[in-house]
Amino acid sequence: MIKDCKYRPLFLKGKMGQGSYSLVSVCKSEESLDKKCKAKVILKSKTFIKGYDAYVFQSENVQEKVMNYLKLNNIPYICGVDEIDTLVDKDVIEMDTDRSTIKVLYRANSTDNVLMLTNKCNNNCIMCPDSLKVRTENKNIPLSILKKYIELIDEEVKFLCITGGEPTLLKKDFIEIIRYLGEKLPDTEYLLLTNGRMFYNKNFAESFLKSTPKNLITAIPIHGHYPELHDSISGVKGSFIQSFYGLKNLYELGGKIEIRVVINKLNYTVITNIAAMISNYFPKVVRVNFMAMEMLGNAVVNKEKVWIDFNSVQEKLKEAAFILLKSGIEVGIYNFPLCSLDESIWNLSVRSISDYKIRYKEQCKECSVMKNCGGFFNSTINMKDLKVNPIQ
Ligand code: SF4
Repeated sequence: MIKDCKYRPLFLKGKMGQGSYSLVSVCKSEESLDKKCKAKVILKSKTFIKGYDAYVFQSENVQEKVMNYLKLNNIPYICGVDEIDTLVDKDVIEMDTDRSTIKVLYRANSTDNVLMLTNKCNNNCIMCPDSLKVRTENKNIPLSILKKYIELIDEEVKFLCITGGEPTLLKKDFIEIIRYLGEKLPDTEYLLLTNGRMFYNKNFAESFLKSTPKNLITAIPIHGHYPELHDSISGVKGSFIQSFYGLKNLYELGGKIEIRVVINKLNYTVITNIAAMISNYFPKVVRVNFMAMEMLGNAVVNKEKVWIDFNSVQEKLKEAAFILLKSGIEVGIYNFPLCSLDESIWNLSVRSISDYKIRYKEQCKECSVMKNCGGFFNSTINMKDLKVNPIQ
């Protein structure tokens, strides 16, 4: 299996730490003078400079006078950090000094960053890449931490994905975060991933749309063209009605909307019906994206029920795409390798898998379109019946 060269770990492990939990942005280069909320990343012990909020050291053996200074001033630090070289200026990191670990929340040199508002969700989708355990853990992120994270993100950031769990479950705090993003990062493009159920409440939909930054698209999944099918995939009876009318409320109030169809064994034969329903009720959505599953969490637990190999989907996917295109709706195809798609719809395929998750099979080295192909999720590449067909 080939790893993409852009791979950067999201967790870094150190040998020893001290101090309190810190959310800070990375400062590696010496010329950076703005020291507010910055973690100095020190590759060589001689480069120590005072005045930062936290320190990350490559070495395990930091000079005694430096240690004394940090301890006396109660400044958090982590020493002996593996893969410290992978951090870059303006990354936003969460330092857990008790466990000596670093979580990279915002990757400054990536176009693929997320703002995760909560782990909780009011659906339990059969193919969700999170597990039920992750989505029900009581780990509420306080509003103050979410705001601090937003303040630390580089003002030049081009794109942010707002996600969860289900972000709208934060209710008033969700609206406040959306408003705050517009205030702090007004020129960024946003994609909000939501199941749309909360927008069934028209007042909530109105408050949301009044607060949204100018470049925000709301992406809502539709799993079936009738309630029983959608609900059997979302895991919640009544969710189709709420998602459908939530979507309708936003649509009628003028929201910019993307509809997502996650293709699995339960709905792949009816994606043409879903496409027809969308072109009938929502012809002015920004786009419709068909997506292959990421095989993690619930998707793995339910793999016998949900997994369908890409080639079996090929014909229906082409038909569904043409139904939408004929209605003037933009279509994207996500997470499908090129050799699993009919060549007539290659132009709809998006290199969509996050850079650190992309994998290719060994045979892909012989393929002439590898550089245009989005490959596979690291979690999907070893699924059964998954074949590649290198293009000559
Ligand atoms: S064989 Fe080519 S098209 Fe198929 S997955 Fe590999 S790189 Fe992509």
